[in-house]
Amino acid sequence: MADFPHCRVATWAEIDRLADAVAEKVLSAGRRPETIVGLTRGGWVPARLLADRLAVKRVYSLRAQHWGVTATPSGKAEVTEGVSGPVEGQRVLVVDDITDTGESLELALERVREGRPARAETASFLHISHSKFRPNYFGEEIPKESWVWVVFPWNYWEDLASLAERARAVDPDHVRAVLRDRCGWDVPSEHLEELARWSARR
Ligand code: AMP
Repeated sequence: MADFPHCRVATWAEIDRLADAVAEKVLSAGRRPETIVGLTRGGWVPARLLADRLAVKRVYSLRAQHWGVTATPSGKAEVTEGVSGPVEGQRVLVVDDITDTGESLELALERVREGRPARAETASFLHISHSKFRPNYFGEEIPKESWVWVVFPWNYWEDLASLAERARAVDPDHVRAVLRDRCGWDVPSEHLEELARWSARR
């Protein structure tokens, strides 16, 4: 039987609260950046939400790849596309959605430092306590004993598709039962119908 991760579905309201919490910590530390670098793809929305709260106009991206399909690490993390703009002399905040092994954010920070910024710090919305890299700021810490696969709103359909496929069931009710029992994810049946419509057209 395939492996299924325990899942926690993050709502937009929770994401908003996490963005508030991280922005609050950055401002309380008196460390407002002038440039934000968001890791693609998970750190893009967090980067944008922080840029809004911190009034940062310059947002760059950096592409890091680590985890393959949902909850399956694809080996070593690597930076496959560097920072999209110059950071020399700037105060930079590098942002991701979650630090799990922490390898992606650690590598991204190294890459940003090569561009000789005046300062480079890191933030993630969620931080799992076993991560070997601890960001300067995070919104919430998840104890390692409570490891969970977080279904972020920006990864919802991708996670649903890959877990539904892993369930190897044709009947949607069976897929729902597997996701509920194995992942703790109570998927509304309309979402499986919607997924089937998306999948048929791409
Ligand atoms: P990592 O290098 O292990 O810290 O994680 C790299 C990326 O994989 C993160 O930015 C997330 O997009 C994704 N990821 C890793 N672990 C999780 C998790 N437990 N839940 C959701 N996404 C995750």
